This record gives sequence, structure tokens and C-alpha cells, in this order.
Amino acid sequence: MNNPAEESTGEMYMTKDDLWEKCLLYIKDRIQEQAFQTWFDGIIATNLNSDGITLQVPNQFHYEWLETKYRHLIDNALKENASHPLIVNYSVVISDKSIDEIPTLTAKEKPVPQGYQRKSQLNSRYIFENFIEGKSNQFAKAAALSVADTPGQTPYNPLLIYSSPGLGKTHLLQAIGNKLIRQNGNMRVVYLTSEKFMLDFISSIQKNRSTEFTSSYRNVDMLLLDDVQFFQSKEQTQEQFFHLFNDLFQKGKQIVLTTDRHPSELKGLKERLISRFQSGLVVDIQPPDLETRIAILMKKAEDDGLEIPYDVTEFIAEAIVGDIRAMEGALVKLLALSSLRREDITMNLAQQVLKNLLGKNSFTDLSIDQIVKYVCREMKVSERQMLGKGRTMEVALARQLAMFLSKELTSASLANIGIHIGGRDHSTVIHACKNIDKKAIADSEFQRKIDSMKSEISGQKLSKTMKGNA
Ligand code: ADP
Ligand code: MG
Repeated sequence: MNNPAEESTGEMYMTKDDLWEKCLLYIKDRIQEQAFQTWFDGIIATNLNSDGITLQVPNQFHYEWLETKYRHLIDNALKENASHPLIVNYSVVISDKSIDEIPTLTAKEKPVPQGYQRKSQLNSRYIFENFIEGKSNQFAKAAALSVADTPGQTPYNPLLIYSSPGLGKTHLLQAIGNKLIRQNGNMRVVYLTSEKFMLDFISSIQKNRSTEFTSSYRNVDMLLLDDVQFFQSKEQTQEQFFHLFNDLFQKGKQIVLTTDRHPSELKGLKERLISRFQSGLVVDIQPPDLETRIAILMKKAEDDGLEIPYDVTEFIAEAIVGDIRAMEGALVKLLALSSLRREDITMNLAQQVLKNLLGKNSFTDLSIDQIVKYVCREMKVSERQMLGKGRTMEVALARQLAMFLSKELTSASLANIGIHIGGRDHSTVIHACKNIDKKAIADSEFQRKIDSMKSEISGQKLSKTMKGNA
């Protein structure tokens, strides 16, 4: 009983395991079950000394995720349970097993039918190298890279990527397949849309060949299934896919899915399928910020050998906010017009092209980030406070306002809003919106404030959008 830690604090001396165990309980109480299982289950403390604690994580991506999304929470857990401040260190351990012991998916044992690559339906245009990374998509990209490198061997099985249209889901999905095939040409990778899956299934029934249909997919090493929201209300197809999913999953084959919204918001899908979808890792892609949009356009221009003045690039990137596909469309249109008229690509020409496009609200989405920044400025709280766990009245109100405005002004799902504003769940967002509504009804001054915030933040974007046209 002459432990110095005990003398100085009067507390029981705690081992690294005791301390971390307590922290885990603290954390578990504060995040969703699913998130806890994905990010904290199985994380152990490997070292504890007077300066810090070392946590062992399975890979770099896991580490980055904890640092970015859960740092506050871990810090708070330690503050609550340790007698003095501790720094958190991480050690990345891929697996106890040596690489040889992990059942690899190499083709040595598996003769692969000729032309499998063609059958994979992958488009070689979609690769990681030309996928521009920004804050809005970095987690989705990191997760995608991680499963491409070690398919079926990360906890991210299935990996589900969701976003509104035109933000790069298909690009990432195919990049995973392309990378895997490039690393190992014998890998049986299948990419297909959910619509194609259903059509194939139906046609196999018509031809009395549903057994063949099933077995053809059960032999793959990786299944990349795009736009799963298409399965809504297609019960037979869901059933079929459910069995395929379980089969592949049990064999340790990687499954990657995309949807247009968080799985919990998919209507017309069987509960057990939704729960499978959420059993691995769910990541979203947000609308990219201006810098990322400019970088994407510049990369496209470069890849296509085009010379486009920088101000034109910036102009397009400023005008079209929520949809990269629409932005690329503008670029293509600009090229078409320039070659048709034999004119150089100038600002003038760009304005003509965009005038037509802007008519059709193609510049819709404000991002949650923009709203958070705006509310922080207005309410004089820091972003760190807003995204942290603090519950002082001003901070809580600012947070609720940001949630409310995000719901009103973006197409983001409630779950998505919660994740981006401090890692909360969708019920917190619902509660926030109700609270703001209630306050506004009771207090007309507050109502006016909200209205003016709404119009200011939408207006800001509009004036910025039109700046180039002036
Ligand atoms: P989604 O499947 O989400 O609707 P896509 O993957 O089809 O979107 O992307 C639309 C277009 O935008 C594609 O041409 C894609 O290459 C491009 N794109 C999307 N995100 C990026 C990015 N981060 N970097 C480069 N191009 C991108
Ligand atoms: Mg797509």
C-alpha cells in the first residue's frame, strides 16, 4: 500500500485494464450501441504510466476515426476515471496472426474462369487515384481503401457508403474493385447495381435457373452492390439477397454497399436486412467544400488534357454546390459549346452555360458544415464547443439551432445531421428540432431570429453563387 499514485490521490491504484474498463463503461453510456460495437469493442489498453495510456487499435483507419470522432469522449472518460490528466497514445496492430495464417483470397487454389475481369463490370475510369479527397469524403475514402487492401479482414464488413446523388459513391465502390483486381488479377470481384441484381434474378426465375443465379454470386470474393435503396418493396429480391449476404459474410468475403440515405431511414426494407447493413461500418459522404470542388474540376480538366482558366474553374465550383455530377455536366457542356462555336473557354462562355443550369436549382445543398460555422459565429460559441459534449445553456441552444437549420435547409438525413453535429443519434436531432419549434412558438422574438438566420444563410450562399455573374 505504498504506491505513490495512491498516496497522492487517495484513490485505489488502478491497473490499465481497470481504468480502461471504467472508461469503456463511461463511453458505452454515451454513444449508440452500434457505434460502440464498431469502434470500442475489443479495443484494449496495452500500457499505462504516469503520462498516458496506450490503446491498441486494429489499423490506421480505426485510429484516425477514434481521434477525429471520439477524442473528446475518450478524454472525458479518462478525466472522469483517472486521478490525473493522461495523454492517449495508440498502437496499431493489424492482427496477431502473421499474414500467412490469415486465409487469403489469392487465386492459387482457385482456377478462375477466363474473362472474369470483364464480367466484373468494373469501369476502369473509377480509381482511387482520381478520387479527390476532402473533409466531406475522407472517411468514406479511407474505409474504402482499407477494405480494398484487406477485403473481408477488417471489422468493416459490410461497408456501407451513403450520400445524396452525385457525390462519389459509385466512384468509390468501383475504385475498391479496381484496386483489388489490380493487386490480384484473379480475384473474383463483382460490381453491379441493385437494379441489375433484381433483373437478373427475375430472368433466372423465368428461365427456371434460379439455382444457377444463386451459385454464380456465391462464388465471388467481393460483392460491390450499388444503390441498394432500389430493393425497397422488392420482397423476393430482398429475400434472395439476404441469403447471399449471409453466405458471403460467413465465408469472410467482403461486401460493400451503397445507398442514398442512412440505412435506418430506408423504408420498405426488411428489418433483418437493415440490421445486416448496419452490422459493419456505415459511412457517409457530404457535399464537398469549395476547395474540394475546385480540385475535382482541375483534376478532370487535367485528365482530359484541357486548359481551363482558373477563374472559370472557380466560377463553376462556386455555382454548383451539392452535386459533383452536375458540376461535371457543366464542364462538359462548356466544352461542347466551346468547340461548337470555335471559341476559347472564357468566363463569358461559362456564364452562358451556367445561366441555363442555374435556372434548374442545380446548386441546392448547403452543407451541414456551413451551417455549423454560421451558427457558431452568430451564437458566439466555438466549433469545438458546438461539436463537443458540453451542455451549458448557450452551447446546447447553439447546437439545437444548428440541428434545426440543418434539417430545414439541407437534404441531409436526421442520422446524418446527428453524426456531423457532435456524433449524436437521430433521436437527439428530433428532440432538438422539437425544442426549437416550441421555443419559437412561445417567443416571437426568437421566431424572428430564426427566420432571419434562415434567410441570411440561404441568401449568403445565393449571393456568393451569383457573384461571378455580376
Ligand atoms: P453517386 O454514385 O454518389 O451518385 P458518382 O460516384 O457517380 O456519384 O459520382 C458522380 C461523378 O462525380 C462521377 O463522375 C465521379 O467520378 C465524380 N466524383 C465524385 N466524387 C469525386 C471525387 N471526390 N473526386 C473526383 N471525382 C468525383
Ligand atoms: Mg451511383
